[in-house]
Amino acid sequence: MTSNPAPTRLVFAGQLGPLFDDGGPMMIIEARSVFGRRPMHRAKAHLLLSALRHRAAELGDRVEFHQVDSYDEVVTGRRDLEAIDPTSWAARRFVRRHGMAVLPSRGFVTSETDFAAWAATRTGKRLLLEDFYRTVRERTGVLMRGDQPEGGKFNFDHDNRQPPPRNAAGLGLPDPVWPVEDEIDAQVRDDLDRWQRDGLVQLVGDDGPRRFAATATEAEAVLADFVETRLGEFGPFEDAMLSGDWVMSHSQLSAPMNLGLLDPMRAIEAVEAEYHAGRAPLASVEGFTRQIMGWRDYVWHLYWHLGEGYRTSNNALEAHNPLPEAFLALDPDSIRSNCLRETIDGMRRHGWAHHIQRLMVLGNWALQHGYDPVALNDWFVDMFVDGTPWVMPANVIGMSQHADGGIVATKPYASGGAYIDRMSDYCSGCSFNPKVRLGPTACPFTAGYWAFLDRVEPQLRGNHRMAQPLAGLRRLADREAVIDQERLRESW
Ligand code: SF4
Repeated sequence: MTSNPAPTRLVFAGQLGPLFDDGGPMMIIEARSVFGRRPMHRAKAHLLLSALRHRAAELGDRVEFHQVDSYDEVVTGRRDLEAIDPTSWAARRFVRRHGMAVLPSRGFVTSETDFAAWAATRTGKRLLLEDFYRTVRERTGVLMRGDQPEGGKFNFDHDNRQPPPRNAAGLGLPDPVWPVEDEIDAQVRDDLDRWQRDGLVQLVGDDGPRRFAATATEAEAVLADFVETRLGEFGPFEDAMLSGDWVMSHSQLSAPMNLGLLDPMRAIEAVEAEYHAGRAPLASVEGFTRQIMGWRDYVWHLYWHLGEGYRTSNNALEAHNPLPEAFLALDPDSIRSNCLRETIDGMRRHGWAHHIQRLMVLGNWALQHGYDPVALNDWFVDMFVDGTPWVMPANVIGMSQHADGGIVATKPYASGGAYIDRMSDYCSGCSFNPKVRLGPTACPFTAGYWAFLDRVEPQLRGNHRMAQPLAGLRRLADREAVIDQERLRESW
C-alpha cells in the first residue's frame, strides 16, 4: 500500500510566518503581474518582494519558489496543492478554481466561525465593535480578572488620546530598531529599477531604506523594541501628530502582521505581560489590545460579512470626484495645508501614516471633497505598506467616507481644523488659520467642513447624530460666502 504524498502548501503574501507552516512542503509564487495591476508605492512593492524572497530563502529545500508573470502558469494542472484560506475574495476564488484543498484561515485572534456565531446572536442589532471586542476579551481572558475586565472597564479611551506635548519636536522616544537590509533587499531594488525601466510597473514614492519588518525574526525584534520603548506612551499619544516625529509611539507592526509574519495573539500576550509585570500602564495596554483583537479582527470579519460587493456598491454621499494629482503622485510640493503636506510627504517617504493621519487628515479631506470612495479605497490599499484588500473597505468605504450610509460608523468622520489644531503641531506652521473660515487665511478644513455639510445635508438630515452640526450650519451667518469660497478654492 502506498500513502499519498503530503500536499504542497501554497502560501500567499499574507501567510509568510511560522503560523502558516505545519512542516510540510511549501510553494511560494512571486508573480510580477501583481505589481503591475495599478500604481503601487515603491516601499510597499519592496517590502512584499523582500518578504516573499526572505521566506523562500528561510525555507530552503522545503519550498518551491517560482518567479513568474502569473500564478496560473505555475498552478494550472497541479493536483497536489493545498492552501490556508487566503485573504481576498479574488484569491479565494483562485484556490477553489484550481481545486486546492482549503484549510481555515489563520492570522487573527478570532476565527471566521467565531465571528459568524457572534453575528448570529445579534439579529436585529448593529454589529458594534465595542460588543465584539468585549466578547473576544471575555472569551480569550485577555486583560480579564475572572469575569471582570482589568481596571473595572473594557475601554480606557478616556485616558488615552491626549494631544501631543506642547512645543515639542517629537515625543522624545528612542529611535525604533530598524531592519538591516541585506543582499535580498539589494536585489529587490535592482529588480524594481529594471521593471520600472521596462515599463512593467508604475511605482510611486521613495524606496529605502526598508523600514518595516520582512521576516518573522525582524517582526519579533520590532515587537520587543515597541514593548520596551514605546508601549507606555502608546495610549496617551495614539491619536497625536507631530511634524518632527513620524513614528510617535506607534508599533510599526501592522505591516508584518498583515504579511503573516507575526501572530497577533503573540503581540497581545507580550503587551499584557508588561502590564502584569507592572512595566506598562493599563490604558496603553488596553488601547493596543483594542487595536489588534478589537478593530483589526473586526474589519477582517466585516470584509467577508459585508460581501464582495460592499467596496463598489456603496456611495451614499454621492461622491464622484477623482483623486487629485498630489495624492496620486504623493507630491507634497503643490499642497499649502501643512497637515496634508506633512502627511503626504510622510507617505511619500515611508508608505505609511498612522491611523489619525489616515482618518482625520487624508480621509477627512477626501470626505469633504467628495472623492470617489472606490478610488480612495484602492489608493489606500496600493500606497500603504500595510494596505490589503481586506483591511481597507470597512476602514475607508465605511468608517472614513461614510459611503455605506452608516453600516460601520453611525456618522461621517468630518471635522474642521480645530481637531487637527488640538491633536497636532501642524497649524502653527501653516499659512492658514484653523479658526478662520472666510478670507485668504481661511483653513481649508474648517471652511471645507461647512461646505461638506452644505453638500450632504439632504443625505444626512435623518441622522440624529448629525442634528447638531446641521443646526450649526443653518445658523452660520456667512454660509453662502463660505460655500462659494470653497467651490472656487484653488489653493489648498
Ligand atoms: Fe491643516 Fe487648517 Fe491647520 Fe493648516 S490651519 S494645518 S490646513 S488644519
